[in-house]
Amino acid sequence: MSIKLYNTLTTKIEEIETIKENEVSMYHCGPTVYDYLHIGNMKMYLFADILRRTFEFSGYTIKQVINITDVGHLVSDSNDGEDKIEKSAVENNKTAKEIADFFINIFFDDLKKMNIETTGTIFPKATDTIPEQIILIQKLESEGHTYKTEDGIYFDVSTFPDYGKLGNIDLEGLQAGKRIEFNEEKHTPYDFALWKFSPKNKIRQQEWKSPWGVGFPGWHIECSAMAQKYLGNTFDIHTGGIDHIPGHHNNEIAQSECANHAPLAHIWMHGAFMNWKDKKMSKSDGTFITLTDLENQNISPLSYRYFLLQARYSQPLFFEIEDIKASQTAYYRLKNRIQDILKNNIVIDENSIIKKMAGIIENDLDTPKLLAYLWDLVNEENINKKIIEKFDSILGLKLLKQDNIPEEILALKVERDLARSNKDFTKSDELRDKIKNLGYEVLDTPDGTKIKK
Ligand code: AMP
Ligand code: ZN
Repeated sequence: MSIKLYNTLTTKIEEIETIKENEVSMYHCGPTVYDYLHIGNMKMYLFADILRRTFEFSGYTIKQVINITDVGHLVSDSNDGEDKIEKSAVENNKTAKEIADFFINIFFDDLKKMNIETTGTIFPKATDTIPEQIILIQKLESEGHTYKTEDGIYFDVSTFPDYGKLGNIDLEGLQAGKRIEFNEEKHTPYDFALWKFSPKNKIRQQEWKSPWGVGFPGWHIECSAMAQKYLGNTFDIHTGGIDHIPGHHNNEIAQSECANHAPLAHIWMHGAFMNWKDKKMSKSDGTFITLTDLENQNISPLSYRYFLLQARYSQPLFFEIEDIKASQTAYYRLKNRIQDILKNNIVIDENSIIKKMAGIIENDLDTPKLLAYLWDLVNEENINKKIIEKFDSILGLKLLKQDNIPEEILALKVERDLARSNKDFTKSDELRDKIKNLGYEVLDTPDGTKIKK
């Protein structure tokens, strides 16, 4: 079997042939660290995680980079407006570095909570890669791809005839679109900033000297430089959200391919959004919730992971708290069923199951089908520990981990046991309901009462 993935560049599902045998190199556009990540952002990192786990399952070693944008991403997502990090620093009365460090730590906590594998993953920061970005811009300048305006150095899109090839972008449409601002000095509306000069009347917190003047890099050149630094001129797979197709990723392609005369990545993959009503969940619109918000409603991050796995990465989702709660119930039911079945020694055909698993996940990361297959096997009681470990190496749901019961629940259990032994059934039922409302179930078994999440 081989891995097949949908490539936005060719608009086809392709069988993957990596550059190096049995090794895959991947770059994932990472967070801009000016605020908490929302659960939509986490959908994107889960997608990267499933991609990685699928390659690991198939025996590949992994070279993986997730960048951290800590400068240069402007509020317009284009060439104008304030820098998101500097704006957040002013609003919170902190330095840009304090803001970035604070939200980087929260990003790492959230990855861990969702069991996103990061062993060996490189997380470069844009501010640590400024010299490489300057060198890349110089290369583009020396080959005639740039021009200077009042506010910065711009990439001249007309020098790259393939511009817009990713997603077959309709440049006429883009030109008319309101996301591309019209700057009198720009040759075409979709030319984009490589280097921006610091404002004349203001000292920025994050600014650097460059051959063109003091300033800071454009958001797109950062990714091109970080990808090249850690993965070389050409690597296997580049991912991000679908919002990155028209601008950010076409810009990365234009810069890198003009500078290196080589394709940037062979496969481009894009994750669909987590939506809020009929729009993308978004920090700037204030329509977002975080993993911590879910936890405050007694929903565990792994239950949210289960919720996401019920859809393919390329399928949009719509935020409904009740759906996530239903996933939590299904998730704990699955774990409990597995625990019960594993008490018996069952002989199963491991090889045929593993082969079928590979066929499912290697088909463009079909996690919903893989979960459904697991449920079928559980319902047939056709599992053993090794098979569950295999499933979990991809699903990452900690299926074999026994959940610790919190002290508070144990205390309520003791109180209920006492009420029962006193034959105070009203009180005992009240306590059972209280425990249930906290997300746990009391089971009266011949060996005494047990608690299950
Ligand atoms: P940002 O921090 O805004 O640069 O976004 C980081 C990543 O999250 C990018 O790959 C975005 O495409 C992705 N993203 C942003 N909003 C959503 C959303 N509502 N659903 C899924 N992914 C998103
Ligand atoms: Zn990027």
